Amino acid sequence: MKIKIETKNLNVWYGNNQVIKNFSIKIPEKKITAIIGPSGCGKSTFIKTLNRMVELTPGARVGGEVLVDGKNIYRPDVDVTEIRWKMGMVFQKPNPFPKSIYENVAYGPKVHHLVKKEDLNRVVEVNLKRAALWDEVKDRLKMSAFELSGGQQQRLCIARALAVNPEVILMDEPCSALDPIATTKIEDLLFDLKKNYTIVIVTHNLQQAARVSDFTAFMYLGTLVEYGKTEEMFERPRNKQTQDYIMGRFG
Ligand code: ADP
Repeated sequence: MKIKIETKNLNVWYGNNQVIKNFSIKIPEKKITAIIGPSGCGKSTFIKTLNRMVELTPGARVGGEVLVDGKNIYRPDVDVTEIRWKMGMVFQKPNPFPKSIYENVAYGPKVHHLVKKEDLNRVVEVNLKRAALWDEVKDRLKMSAFELSGGQQQRLCIARALAVNPEVILMDEPCSALDPIATTKIEDLLFDLKKNYTIVIVTHNLQQAARVSDFTAFMYLGTLVEYGKTEEMFERPRNKQTQDYIMGRFG
């Protein structure tokens, strides 16, 4: 199994408050890795270190290393924009651009000159299909993205992330604003996507982690408490804190 992302002694501070502590993990390629843990334990901060988005928070400071394909993305000569395209992110609340469905997907490839103008229609179609949205929107591509349902908007954001050919998709509670049917659609989609992409998903929904992920990492107070195959974590957690959390005793 190839390792796609590795963090080594990762530390994050907001001002004087250290919220990620000596976090070392190896995340395999083309698998789904879930990050679970009680609210405030640092899940969202952690996932944002993986594409350097954490640096957008004023006062945030990162120490340690994040290796992607063996290269530390925190080296000074790294192009941050490129990292953020390569490691696409999907957020809790769908955040499409105030543009048409078509433009939401076409925008990234256009500004990055990834495709010729005459190929754009095809790129939009391919990525809407990858995000399992094409059939629902193919007759109204000019419509504003805001007219879609929340679940459709989230799949549009996934299509937008896919359109710039990422290798990793980072998802921060992508279903928490969605109803159960829309959630199932996203979960089904994840199974398809992991054939081609490495996926890291933060979720506070333990059932979701158990359903979709291959590996699960349990975090508590900024540290990685336990990490392993999802089945084993849920059936035979080794650590008492993991056990208590999975049994619903806290968090
Ligand atoms: P989780 O995703 O597990 O809920 P977060 O990564 O959002 O956890 O938060 C971890 C800790 O960092 C919390 O104590 C939170 O209050 C703090 N924190 C989060 N964002 C900021 C910020 N922008 N500025 C200062 N502290 C923050």
